[in-house]
Amino acid sequence: MDVRPEFPLPDTSWEPTAEFWAGAARQELRIPRCDSCQRLCWYPRERCRHCDGEQFTWETMSGTGTLFSWVVVTHPFLPQFAALVPFVPALVALDEDPAVRIPTRMVECGAAELAFEMPVRVAFRPLTFEGVTGQVTAPLFVPV
Ligand SMILES: [Zn+2]
Repeated sequence: MDVRPEFPLPDTSWEPTAEFWAGAARQELRIPRCDSCQRLCWYPRERCRHCDGEQFTWETMSGTGTLFSWVVVTHPFLPQFAALVPFVPALVALDEDPAVRIPTRMVECGAAELAFEMPVRVAFRPLTFEGVTGQVTAPLFVPV
């Protein structure tokens, strides 16, 4: 299996998600809306999962949402994550459409503070990994 040398940094050049990462670099949370059915389409892909439409218009979200799910990782299963533990991968439901759940990481809060449906907001932070060259700005989330 080929592994990109920058793994686990995201591939910011893959066309369906390139605008998501470009927006994050500008401190904007960008989500595609389908031109045919007008629904937000998450996860970004070539065709709308609701209506099979092929045209999208990217919109900037408010960046607010609620915590839908999370887990506290205390054991790094990959060496690149060793410096991060403990960390909190999470799904955040956006206020614009709670069916849109962004895979992200909760930061700047203790695990004991986390609660289902607590209000959160986006915080753009550099992703870096031990032993990996480069960084990518990512939409992480903090408590409101
Ligand atoms: Zn659609």
